[in-house]
Amino acid sequence: MPTTQNSKPTILYIDDEQDNLDVFKSTFRPYYNIYTALDAVSGRELLKNDTLGIDLIVSDQRMPIMTGIDFFASIVSDYPDIMRILLTAYTDVNAAIDSINRAKVYRYIVKPWEEEELKTAIDQALEFQHLNRKNKELLQQLAEYNKTLEQTVAERTEELRLANELLRKINDEKELMIEQLKATNEEKSRLLIQTREQAIQLENLARQDALTKLANRRHLEISLNYEFERAKRHNRLLTIALLDIDHFKQVNDMFSHQIGDDVLRQLGQILPSCVRASDLVARYGGEEFALVFSDTGLDEARNVCEHIRQTIETHTWSELHPDLKLTCSIGLSTDTSVSNYEKMLSLADAKLYEAKRSGRNRVAV
Ligand code: GH3
Ligand code: MG
Ligand code: MG
Repeated sequence: MPTTQNSKPTILYIDDEQDNLDVFKSTFRPYYNIYTALDAVSGRELLKNDTLGIDLIVSDQRMPIMTGIDFFASIVSDYPDIMRILLTAYTDVNAAIDSINRAKVYRYIVKPWEEEELKTAIDQALEFQHLNRKNKELLQQLAEYNKTLEQTVAERTEELRLANELLRKINDEKELMIEQLKATNEEKSRLLIQTREQAIQLENLARQDALTKLANRRHLEISLNYEFERAKRHNRLLTIALLDIDHFKQVNDMFSHQIGDDVLRQLGQILPSCVRASDLVARYGGEEFALVFSDTGLDEARNVCEHIRQTIETHTWSELHPDLKLTCSIGLSTDTSVSNYEKMLSLADAKLYEAKRSGRNRVAV
């Protein structure tokens, strides 16, 4: 497109006859910006001036130094975009046709030219050039658009890849955390079970006598207190017994403290086997045991105690030592009218003392 003067197309006309140049100029000046040259050399000089913005060259074929065809052929590679129209005499038409390929001439016009024909040829050439330029522009825009599109796609792809990677990482971390959480939970459950077991063990230890595995004194006092209050409030029967091994000191002295322990250990099995599961047998201290018979009257309890006394007396203690023999004394109390369970124990203890005093190996009520 012309870059100078106005929006009219710019034409360079080369002809070695000044008259032709003048006529061309005056004829086409209304439509185009026109530059003229008398030969190819000065024509090329004008072409070199970029500011002129030459769109199209009309050149005479017959010129002294260089023909129009040779001129066109010499500039076609440097100015491929500039349209070329050749003016030729009728006798040179064959050469002109032949040269259309070589010099890439858009058209040739036979001289003398008619204004109408030449203008149509020029306008068509300019139109062709305009479409060509437009086409190039569109192709360039398309290429740029494609480039932007490719870049955007590449950017989005990269963003997606990064997002995916992040997601995978988060997922991996999540799974790891779940695994850790599972492990922690399992450990927690394990510790909880262990703690419960330990608590039960401790609880048992707190209530159990280590040697006989019977209830200890603390357990006895708690249970007896409960049974005493219950019997009092609901007017239920309750009988308790204190059992003491006769001359136990002699067992230790004659045989050994070890055998004494074994005796106590065996009593820990014998005594519970003689009573109901609901009755309580406890080690009261030393070689003294307490028995709690809930919902049981004196007669029934005495029978049980008598059975216990006989069982201990007839037991084959010789397994522990050939000369070992054992008896026990038992004192009972069934009076729940007293103020507390300690008083009941005192009453049973008094009966036990009575049993001892009156000869041992007996049950006193
Ligand atoms: P009594 O017929 O008057 O009850 O005479 P005893 O010898 O049984 O009574 P005493 O209270 O004089 O002696 C009780 C003995 O019991 C003394 C003590 O060494 C023994 N003894 C207490 N606890 C244990 C124990 O855990 N193991 C052993 N081997 N002996 C114990
Ligand atoms: Mg004693
Ligand atoms: Mg004793």
